Amino acid sequence: MYIIFLGAPGAGKGTQAASVARKLGLVHIASGDLFRQALEQGKELGLKAKSYMEKGVLVPDQITIDMVLERISAPDSGGGAILDGFPRNLKQAEALDEALAQQGKAIDKVVYIKVSEEELLKRLSGRRVCRQCQTPCHVSDSPPRVEGRCDKCGGELYQRPDDTEESIKRRLEVYSSETAPLVDYYGRVGKLVEIDGEGGVDKVERRIVAALGGERL
Ligand SMILES: [Zn+2]
Repeated sequence: MYIIFLGAPGAGKGTQAASVARKLGLVHIASGDLFRQALEQGKELGLKAKSYMEKGVLVPDQITIDMVLERISAPDSGGGAILDGFPRNLKQAEALDEALAQQGKAIDKVVYIKVSEEELLKRLSGRRVCRQCQTPCHVSDSPPRVEGRCDKCGGELYQRPDDTEESIKRRLEVYSSETAPLVDYYGRVGKLVEIDGEGGVDKVERRIVAALGGERL
């Protein structure tokens, strides 16, 4: 069972991918972790990716796809995997499908976590992070006990430059132009599962698990 998670920044995609993977006994493959792990393990693909990152250029899709294929072929991925953060655009999706087909594999389902733009703006613009321990909180959804101070360590809370309203709008625009076409692409082949991403982390998780056929796949 190979599942892709899609969702705008702030939709809770990473959080849900991790917890649903645990619940269903699947491996969670976050594209960011993939690079880090490949590097830590001194793998050739990791070193290749690093050489691009050091030059400040995008890692070619083929390297990322090779990493994904290597990861889902690892023994612990036998039960299946959830891909989080890849593919990011149509070109990558088509290349991934082709590469999987060559191994006799295919994406089974694509979970699209849908959240209104208004809610995304609220979630992202209210986010604050501790300068010392990096623990996140939210000014209205999970407010700190003392204003401006981290609950965990008392450190100063700040807003990441990425989380200002202007940046958020730009990030959402990039998302719409790049990733939204994937929703159509997977919808056309009947693999898309749309999930209402509003109303609490646990509720959304239950919706996803139910939509994927419950706890026994
Ligand atoms: Zn802290």
